[in-house]
Amino acid sequence: MSERAYYWDSYTVEFAAEVVEVTEIAGRPAVRLSLTYFYPTSGGQPHDTGRLKQGNQTARVVDVVVRESDEAVLHVLDAAIAPGMATGEIDWPRRFDHMQQHTGQHILSQAFIRTAEAETIGFHLSGQSVTIDLGCAKLTVEEVRAAEQLANEVVTQNRPVRASEVAREAAAGLPLRKLPPGRDGKLRLVDIEGFDLTACGGTHVAGTAEVGLVKVLKTERRGAATRVEFVCGGRAVADYRLKHDVVQQLGATLTTGIDDLPAALARLQEEARQLRLELKRERGARLALEAGQLLDGAETVGGARVVRRVLVGREMDEARQLATLLTAGGAVALLGVTGERAQLVFARPTEGGQASPTWARRSSRRWRRWAGRAAAAGRRRPRGAARRPMRRRWPRRSKRPSLGCERRRKL
Ligand SMILES: [Zn+2]
Repeated sequence: MSERAYYWDSYTVEFAAEVVEVTEIAGRPAVRLSLTYFYPTSGGQPHDTGRLKQGNQTARVVDVVVRESDEAVLHVLDAAIAPGMATGEIDWPRRFDHMQQHTGQHILSQAFIRTAEAETIGFHLSGQSVTIDLGCAKLTVEEVRAAEQLANEVVTQNRPVRASEVAREAAAGLPLRKLPPGRDGKLRLVDIEGFDLTACGGTHVAGTAEVGLVKVLKTERRGAATRVEFVCGGRAVADYRLKHDVVQQLGATLTTGIDDLPAALARLQEEARQLRLELKRERGARLALEAGQLLDGAETVGGARVVRRVLVGREMDEARQLATLLTAGGAVALLGVTGERAQLVFARPTEGGQASPTWARRSSRRWRRWAGRAAAAGRRRPRGAARRPMRRRWPRRSKRPSLGCERRRKL
């Protein structure tokens, strides 16, 4: 029997074998067995997990890898075991999940060839997702649906899935979907009767009905390829359950049936859009009124009209808008915003030349005094606000009112 017994039997999950080599991989104990049903990570499919037992000693199989030098299958363990006879136990739920996804992938890959002339150029299976990369840049919704439909027809036909081994020269004459590179040796083929024949080393179900269901979740353009994410079997049931629960909850929240959900959500979105517009208009009017009042009370410093104000509990966005309105009214704006963080907005008008670097230097002492008062009005004083004056040159003049700097300090 071949060392890789899983090649011919995906369903045996308990077996006896001899530990014929004890070694280490990255500091962890690893063993080679006389034969193994444990699948090693390869060909896009992750490894099996399980246990190796010797008497009353048990070691968990945490990884299974193929050694490059001699292609031996090595079982990485969480505890060392000795040479001699051992019993292997494979975690069946994980193994069967991989079988469902991998056979489902073969079916879907062939379905895409038949419905969209799209060849599979990559396959990836993990605990989170199953994807194939198709060698085409574009795939229509109809093509995806047609491939999915055909795949599920093949599932319900319960076609036998068989593995065989052929010499590589003989494989060249077969209608294989995929022929891996290489010149000699033997090839393991997986045949879905009358539908798909390809070279593959993975673990598969015995009949397509065991795949249960094939559901495409999404497609995504990847340069010249298209990535198709899908689920099969138990993962498809879990996905259906999740989405059914979400739809049920949405229906209950919106007090509407499943069929009316899209329309109900569209109505909600439109209402929200209208409310946002109304809020924006109201806020603009309120800020214009506030800016007018602040401009009326602006003080004159060094020939410049200056508005200094601490805005308690206001949003930074509002402070910026207010500063823009004040500079449009010809004033220099020095605004502080208190809240979770103390933030400052400086802005000056671009026309009129009332604010200048000279003014800025002269006002630095004033700024320190003002910053201290501004901080006192907040919940806590911003650290360093009064001790460390802002050293900053005014920005160069531009056509737009310039918003100065915003310094953010943690309170
Ligand atoms: Zn395969």
